[in-house]
Amino acid sequence: MSFYPDLHTSSLVGHGDRHRAIAWLSSDHVFPRGKVLGTFVEVLKRHVASAYQPLAFAGAHTCELCGDYSAAGNVWVPTSDVVYIAPEMIVHYIVDHDYLPPDEFRQAVEGCPPQGSPEFMRLLAPYLSYFGTSPPDPLPTPHQQAQIAKLLTTAFYDIARLCRSGDATAAAALATACADLPSEMHGWGLWYRHIFSRLVRNGRPSYPGIGAYLDEYNAIFGEDTDPELTAYTASQASLMRNIKGAEPGAAADSGGV
Ligand SMILES: [Zn+2]
Repeated sequence: MSFYPDLHTSSLVGHGDRHRAIAWLSSDHVFPRGKVLGTFVEVLKRHVASAYQPLAFAGAHTCELCGDYSAAGNVWVPTSDVVYIAPEMIVHYIVDHDYLPPDEFRQAVEGCPPQGSPEFMRLLAPYLSYFGTSPPDPLPTPHQQAQIAKLLTTAFYDIARLCRSGDATAAAALATACADLPSEMHGWGLWYRHIFSRLVRNGRPSYPGIGAYLDEYNAIFGEDTDPELTAYTASQASLMRNIKGAEPGAAADSGGV
């Protein structure tokens, strides 16, 4: 695994002035050793077991110190000042190799809200640019949340109706589009308004009636400014102009996005 000294402002998964690398150990470099409290290890294990991953990181690492242990993924520990990023292997380094992480990291872990919770996401959001992730949209207001809740209720009845009529593909498309809305609109995870729009558009071939949900959704939030949709609409408009220019009077195809 790539080596970065503790508290370095770069790691394999990001860099920035408020980024702090932790436990990016290598067999070529000495590292601090010592005993940590068992209570700290238990808290750290809980964070690792439920680690929120802002980006997928393919492949497992094998421990260079013993060659006997592999782990994938990383754990993010944000505070209001910095974000600590450690490989999930950190627990193995502490338990089996006596690695001693810096005091400030241990304090941050003990003060860190549960991974993925709204409090955690609020702390993590300012650092997302370090991971090449765009900042999330502001959470829906209480009024918008109430409207989304009504939309979801309608969707559940619709899914039940589609199941009874045997149209599993359509039911699955609608369920997939709605699956993450209930948690994300309250801040469990990241709220990206465009995700629902894109899932609905993906679901149209399976369930043409799903388009009504997007209309309702856009009525709640105003005009959809999804860059992907804007680019697609512009390219379609340009295509239509070219067709009309080449064949005056040709019938316009008003197919959906
Ligand atoms: Zn090892």
